[in-house]
Amino acid sequence: MRAFLSLILIVGMTACQTTPDTTVPTPPADRTGGAATPAPDPRFAAASDEFVDAMLATQPEWAIYQGWYENAGELTVPDAAYFQSRREFYRRWQRRFDAFSPESLPADQRTDLVLIENEIESSLWQLNTFRPWDWMPSVYNVAGPIGLILNTDFAPEDERLRLVSNRLKDVPAYYAAARENLDTPTLEHTDLAIAQNSGALDLLGQGLSDRIAASGLSAEEKSLFTRRLGNAQSVITDWIDWLTATRDRLEAEGSARSFRIGEALYQEKFRYDIQSSYTARELYERALAEKEKLHQRMDQITRDRWSAYFPDTPMPRDRLERVGMLIDHLSARHVDREDFIAEIRNQVPRLADFVRENDLLDQDPTRPLVIRETPLYMRGGGAGASVSSPGPFNPEANTYYNVTPLDDYTAEEAESYLREYNHWILQILNIHEAIPGHYTQLLHANKSPSLIKSLFGNGAMVEGWAVYAERMMLEQGWGNDEPEMWLMYGKWNLRVVCNAILDYAVHVKGMTQDEAMHLLTEEAFQERTEATNKWRRVRLSQVQLTSYFAGYAEIYDFREQRKARLGDDFDLKRFHNEFLSYGSAPVSVIRELMVSK
Ligand code: ZN
Ligand code: ZN
Repeated sequence: MRAFLSLILIVGMTACQTTPDTTVPTPPADRTGGAATPAPDPRFAAASDEFVDAMLATQPEWAIYQGWYENAGELTVPDAAYFQSRREFYRRWQRRFDAFSPESLPADQRTDLVLIENEIESSLWQLNTFRPWDWMPSVYNVAGPIGLILNTDFAPEDERLRLVSNRLKDVPAYYAAARENLDTPTLEHTDLAIAQNSGALDLLGQGLSDRIAASGLSAEEKSLFTRRLGNAQSVITDWIDWLTATRDRLEAEGSARSFRIGEALYQEKFRYDIQSSYTARELYERALAEKEKLHQRMDQITRDRWSAYFPDTPMPRDRLERVGMLIDHLSARHVDREDFIAEIRNQVPRLADFVRENDLLDQDPTRPLVIRETPLYMRGGGAGASVSSPGPFNPEANTYYNVTPLDDYTAEEAESYLREYNHWILQILNIHEAIPGHYTQLLHANKSPSLIKSLFGNGAMVEGWAVYAERMMLEQGWGNDEPEMWLMYGKWNLRVVCNAILDYAVHVKGMTQDEAMHLLTEEAFQERTEATNKWRRVRLSQVQLTSYFAGYAEIYDFREQRKARLGDDFDLKRFHNEFLSYGSAPVSVIRELMVSK
C-alpha cells in the first residue's frame, strides 16, 4: 500500500506538464462490475508455500539457480532411487493440488495453480517420457552450481568454499550414475557434454586451488578439500574420455540417436513449455504466414525507397536480393564503438517519456533501471545486452540493464556488431530489453508479488511481451513511422519468426542443414556466423526457439480480437495494464481471465 501511494506522488510530480492525471493508476471500469471475485483461499496459499519449500529443500541445484543457498552444499546424485523419489514427490503434490478448483480461486491464485500444475505435469513427463538423462549427456555437469557458489557473493568466502568442498564429495557417485543412466545419446549432446565438462575441469583448476590455499579454512579442511578436488578432476577426466570413446563408437556404427525429437515429443514439450492456446502445428503455420507478410512489407518499402539510396543502380529482379541490398546499405548508419553504452543510456529515458506521453501503460519511477557494463563473470558469450532482475529472494535489489562494451573486439568485429545493432535496431533492442519490454513487464509483475510466478513463470509470456512491445511502440509512432525503421524492424522480427519455423521444421519435418541455412541467410538476412550458431542451437534445444514467437503471436492476436470486440471502448493503456497485472502467467490463461470478466 505504501508503495502504491508513493507511486502516485512521484508520478504526479514529474508527469503533470504533459499528462495531468492520466498516469495515476485507475482501476479498469469492468473490474468493479461483473461476477464477484472469489476471496483468496488460505489453504491454497499454505499449500503453494509448502510446495515451494519442498522444491527448494529437495532440489538443491535448482534452488541455487533461484538464489537460495540453504542446501547448496549437497550434490544431487541422479541415480534410480533419486528418480523414483521425484516421481513420488510430484504425484503426492499433484494429489494435493487436485483438491483445488480454479473457479473457486481469485485470479492471482488461479494463475498460480495453473503454473504449479504445469510444473508438476511437466516434471512427470520429463521423468517418464522425455527422459533426457537417457540420451542427453550434456545434462550431466557439476560445474554450473559450483560456478555460481564461487562467483556469487551471498556468504563469506570460507563458507562458500566449504559448500563447494562438500559438493565435491559425491562427484564420483554422480558420474557413476550418469554412466549407468545413459542409453543411446545423440552425437550433438555428446559433443556438448565433452566441451562443457572440459570447462568444468577449468573451473576446478588452479584458480580454485589458489583460492583454497589463500582461504581461512583449517589445515585439515584444506587437505580434505584438495583430496576431493583431485578425485573430482580425475573422475571428470575419465568421464570425458568415456564420452569421447562412446562418441567415436556411435559415429562408426551410425547408431547415435537423432537430435530430432519428432512430432509426438515435440507436441508434448510444446504443450508443457509454452502452455499456448495454439497447437505446435498451428503456430508453425502462423509463423510461415508472418514471414510472407514481412517479406511483402519489406519489399514495398524497398521499392518505394530504392531511388533515394541507389539512384544509379537498377533494382534487382529478385525480391529478397533487393531487400537485402537496402538493409546492407542502411546498416552503415550506427554509433561509434566508444559511444555504444552512452547511446543506450541516452535512449532509455526517452523511451520512458514516449510511453508516458502516449499513455501506453503505467510505469514506476521509484524502481529505476540501472544501466551498467556487464560484470566480468557474466561475460563470455561475446558482446550483448540483457536485463538481470533481482531474484524472488532479494526483492529490494536493483534491476540492471547489462551492456557489454565492445572493448575486446577487433575493429572488424566491432564494425560487424555495430552494423547489426545499427541506428534503428539499437532502438528496437532497447524497447525489447528495457522500456516497455522486459524491465517494464517485471515492474508490473512485482506489483502483485507471487513466489510461484517468479519461480515457475511462463517464459513464452515474458519473451512474447518484449517482442510484442517492439511492434506496439512502432505502431504508436516511435521512430515516426519512418520506412527505414519498419524495414529494420522487419529484419529483426524475421529472426523471431524464423526461429519458430526452424525449430518445428527441424524437429518435426526433418529440415536439413542446407535448408536451414537457406532459410536463415536468404530469407531472414542473417550473417553466416549467426546462422551457423542457430543451426547448432536448434539441434541442442527443443521448443525453446519457438517461445518468443509463440508469446508474441498470442498477445498480438488477442489484442486485435479485443479491439474488434470492444470497438470504441477499447483502451490500449487499460489493455496493457490489465494484461500485465497477472504477472508472468501463460498468455492463454491471462486471456481467459480477461475475457471472462
Ligand atoms: Zn560502420
Ligand atoms: Zn528477451
